[in-house]
Amino acid sequence: MTLWLFFINRKDVVATKKREVGTEVEAYCTKCKMDREHVISTLKSDGNINKVMCHTCEGLHLYRLPKSAKKKAPAKRRVKGAVIVSEADLKKAKPYSMEATFKAGDIIQHATFGPGSIIEIRPAGKMEVGFEFGCKTLVFGRKVAK
Ligand SMILES: [Zn+2]
Repeated sequence: MTLWLFFINRKDVVATKKREVGTEVEAYCTKCKMDREHVISTLKSDGNINKVMCHTCEGLHLYRLPKSAKKKAPAKRRVKGAVIVSEADLKKAKPYSMEATFKAGDIIQHATFGPGSIIEIRPAGKMEVGFEFGCKTLVFGRKVAK
């Protein structure tokens, strides 16, 4: 019975592709300056990779995601600068309008984009605002012809 359970557990380990010291992993090599096959040298307490050794230059360094893996994630681009506005901040939110004036750090409520946080004020009456879905450049302080 004990043996049977042991086998079930082993199966789970394989299924989740747990990282183990001595197994190969593709990583960005800080010495070769490119993606290389590495061998896992040490693991962090949470099971993630800590240090890896490069097959090519035999350099030992902290694990870095391969560059190719970063390129494969275009979704990350869209969430660049994404800001989740907290419930408390939302109470301070000013309604966004092109005529209103804002400063960096202000919380705004946009009719279409929802709540956002002003990251940066740009020249020529533009500002960078972080919304939940990512960053947008909005204009402000403009005189709107009625
Ligand atoms: Zn290397």
